[in-house]
Formats: sequence, C-alpha cells, structure tokens
Amino acid sequence: MVRRSRTKTPIAEQDPAIRKSNFDEVCLGYTLEEGAAEAVRCLQCKEAPCIASCPVMIDIPGFILAIKKGNMQEAADILGKYTNLPAICGRVCPQEKQCEQVCKLGLAKNFEPVAIGKLERLVADWALENQDFSKCIQNNEAKIGRIAVIGSGPSGLTVAGDLAKMNYEVIIYEALHDSGGVLTYGIPEFRLPKRIVKKEIESIEALGVTIETNVVVGKTITMDEVMNEFDACYISVGAGAPNFMGIPGTALNGVYSSSEYLTRINLMHSYEFPKFDTPIKRSKNVVVIGGGNVAMDAARSAKRLGADHVSIVYRRSLEELPARIEEYHHSVEEDIDYHWLSNPVEYMNNGVGDLNGVKCVKMELGEPDESGRRRPVPIKNSEFIIEADTVIEAIGQGSNKVLLSTFPELKLTKWGYIEADPKTGTTSIPGVFAGGDIVTGAATVILAMGAGKIAAVEIDNYVREKNKTPVTTKV
Ligand SMILES: Cc1cc2nc3c(=O)[nH]c(=O)nc-3n(C[C@H](O)[C@H](O)[C@H](O)COP(=O)(O)OP(=O)(O)OC[C@H]3O[C@@H](n4cnc5c(N)ncnc54)[C@H](O)[C@@H]3O)c2cc1C
Ligand code: SF4
Repeated sequence: MVRRSRTKTPIAEQDPAIRKSNFDEVCLGYTLEEGAAEAVRCLQCKEAPCIASCPVMIDIPGFILAIKKGNMQEAADILGKYTNLPAICGRVCPQEKQCEQVCKLGLAKNFEPVAIGKLERLVADWALENQDFSKCIQNNEAKIGRIAVIGSGPSGLTVAGDLAKMNYEVIIYEALHDSGGVLTYGIPEFRLPKRIVKKEIESIEALGVTIETNVVVGKTITMDEVMNEFDACYISVGAGAPNFMGIPGTALNGVYSSSEYLTRINLMHSYEFPKFDTPIKRSKNVVVIGGGNVAMDAARSAKRLGADHVSIVYRRSLEELPARIEEYHHSVEEDIDYHWLSNPVEYMNNGVGDLNGVKCVKMELGEPDESGRRRPVPIKNSEFIIEADTVIEAIGQGSNKVLLSTFPELKLTKWGYIEADPKTGTTSIPGVFAGGDIVTGAATVILAMGAGKIAAVEIDNYVREKNKTPVTTKV
C-alpha cells in the first residue's frame, strides 16, 4: 500500500529577506519530481468533491493521475479541456476555499489536502514551455458567426477562447493599451508574472481570437455599432472604479486608491522609474486600509518600493480576513504589520497639504451583518494615530460607468452592476450577454472564468437559434 505523506510536498519560495526588495515571483513552483511526489498523495476519489467545488469543474483527479504517470502532455490536455488560463489559476485561485477545502485527503485527521493549485501550476507551466501554440487548432471551416467581447480580463478571455474553439470569429475590445484586465494591471508581478499572463493570452489568440486594445466601447465605438456588426456580444468590463471611505483628508497628497497605486506599478511600470516615465511616491511609512487580496498586494508592493514601515489597518480580526491565507503568511514574512479591529476616521494634514498621519478608532465585533461576518462597531474614545506619509485605500471597487452610462437600455441591479442570469449570462437585451465582476461585483478570477464558460455555451445556442441551425456544440 502507498504510504502517503501527511503534509503537502514542500515548494520552493524566494527567501523573504531578499524578495521583499524585488518584484520577482515569490513561489518558485514544483519540479517534475516534486510534482510526481505530490500527485501520489491523491486518493483518486470516485466521486471527487474537488471537481464539484471548482467553478469550471476541472477533472482534478484525472490530471493528477497523468502527473503521477509522468505523462505531462496528457495532464496538459486534460486541463486544457476545462480552462484556458491554467497557469494563472494555479497561481491566484483561492484553492484553499474551493477544491482543497473539500479534498478527502485533507479531511482525514492530521492530513493536509493535496496541493491541487500548485500541481495545476506545474502542468500549465510545463505546457507554456513545451507546447507550440502557433500550431493550435484553427480550421478553415466557414465561421458560425461573429461575436464581440468587451473587456479582456479573465471572463472575456475565457468566453473568447471557448467561442473560438466552437468556430466563431471573436473580437475582444479592450479599453487599455494592454490586455488581461486585473491580471495585468492589478495583481503584482511577484504573485503573477506578466510573462505568464502574456503567454496564456497568446495561447487564446492562437485559437483565432483578435484583441483590439485602446478601444473604449461607449466612447471609441458605441454599443449600437457593436450590436449591428456582431451576432451577439459579451460584456465583461469588470468592476474597476475605486471606492473611497470619504473621510476628512482624502484630498491630501499621499492618499491613493489601490487601483491607482497598483495600476501605476503594474501597467505603467512606475517601479522602474526613470526607465519608464510614470513616477510613484517613494514613501517611508505606508498605511493600507482593507483586508482583501488587493490590500495585501498594495502593502507588499509598497514594501518592495522601499518603504521603511508598512502596516495594514483592518476593521475586523484575522479570523474574518478575506485575503488568501497564503498571501497573509507571505505578507507577515515580509514584515507587514497589522492593526486588527481598527478603522481610519481622518487623514492628518501636515499643514501644507501633505499626509502625515492616519487617525484610527478601535473596533469590536457585534452581530453578523448581511455578508455573514460579524459587524465591526467603533469603541468610544479609542482613537490613536499611525504616522504615515502614504495611505492606500483598498476597500473594494464598484462598476465602471463608461460603457453603462451610454447604454441606458441595459437593466442594472440596485448596486449598479449588470443584471444577468447567473445560469446563462443573458441580460435584459437579446444577444447581449454579461459576466464576471461587472455582474457579481468584485469577486475572483475563477468565478469570472466560470461565467465566461457558461455564457459561451449560451451564446452558441443563441446564434444557432437565430440562424435556425441545429445546436450541437458544447465545450
Ligand atoms: C489587486 C487585485 C488582486 C486580486 N487578487 C486576486 C486573487 O489573488 N485571486 C483571485 O481569484 N482574484 C483576485 N482578484 C480579483 C480578480 O482579479 C477579478 O475578480 C477578475 O479579474 C474579474 O475578471 P473580469 O474579467 O470580470 O474583469 P477585469 O479583470 O476587471 O477585466 C475587465 C477589463 O475590461 C476593460 N474595460 C472596462 N471598460 C471597458 C470598455 N468600456 N471598453 C472596453 N474595455 C473595457 C478593462 O480595462 C479591463 O481590462 C484581485 C483583484 C485585484 C484588483
Ligand atoms: S478530493 Fe483530494 S484526494 Fe480526492 S480526488 Fe480530489 S484531490 Fe484527490
């Protein structure tokens, strides 16, 4: 009988003392031997719960068995059936709350779950190194129809890839000068290298998808034009408009939204100033407000830009922290401090318009709120000040109105997101589908991808029905 290790096969990471001053990737990934050792731990469950808890239903035991057999091509082929972005998912998916949380091995006493995410990353990286995407699957059959995808984040890329595989002509319109959405302008290099995002986008282009950057739908072209020129469209414009707390001092120099801070660093290379000409403040004391992945990314980026001291102010406790636990551990190793159960009430002015401190109040947890987490309540007379020359608010994003305000026919929810059926992606307008953060509000890469997969099938159904041909294809 195979003797299974109780713990996950260790994975190499950059030393915290070194990595906190560079933007290179933290996790170095498994070697093939380490991957095979980890694959042996999988129980190959008949009714595998890991599959059901994955939003795109990857055949997890299937690709793990192929790794165990040493057949990486087979593993890559299995993964490729379910996801167009496996190297990205293997790096940033919240596996600990999805597939790994329900892994039967992990449910056994004193056993850790199979490292599903790290194995996915191993296979995907192998495929990016060893597969020639220029030889991908395009055929010369007449196209079934033309589809426009608006926004090139994970949701748009997924729907586009799946529709191209079904033999549609697909054009993605992207507002920015580079594609990938949050994968490119939000998540920093040390968690998700841009070369990985670029390569996976290239693999989608190799299916025949065209990406037109610098096209803002609603401004450069109108929704009327899109609807006249295409058989259907998919709106996946994300939720990129920053929220602000709106407390006194928000207009001071040194107060950033996480969107601006991370976009300057990731998309506009400010960390390579003056080689790239986008500057960013060189700070000494940085305070980040929030507790999600975005807050961690902003804090760890500030550290890498050379700040002496970086702390995160979060209004609840570690138990409620929404960020991935792996990222929290990495942040602690990199000397990021935490002020738990605290909330800012004012940004302090040094007298000439620059930030010099954050006044906070202590909080306690009351009854659960609508999110199911215990509601934080301020404690009277508990104010304290944290010295700071930079504050970064990472308290969530809302829907971007550029397209929506020019398309009033489209029904929105009371929170300003697009009203779309989660089972089909259909909106209030026939032929217009939507998914990802612009429907759910800020969520995760894999949920955005899941919405894209669902919509691809529905768009295919819709166009075939419109053209009165039989529905046959499913991805
Ligand atoms: C800093 C940060 C860290 C994160 N970390 C994680 C993580 O670790 N794990 C995880 O699972 N999720 C993470 N997320 C969330 C995740 O990235 C998002 O849920 C996901 O990217 C949403 O995908 P999307 O395709 O809906 O939209 P987006 O990725 O936002 O892409 C939308 C695209 O549409 C474009 N667009 C907008 N308006 C127009 C227009 N009018 N015309 C044309 N194009 C337009 C935008 O420029 C953008 O490129 C993080 C988010 C942020 C901000
Ligand atoms: S639940 Fe865990 S052990 Fe079972 S098949 Fe999935 S990964 Fe393997």
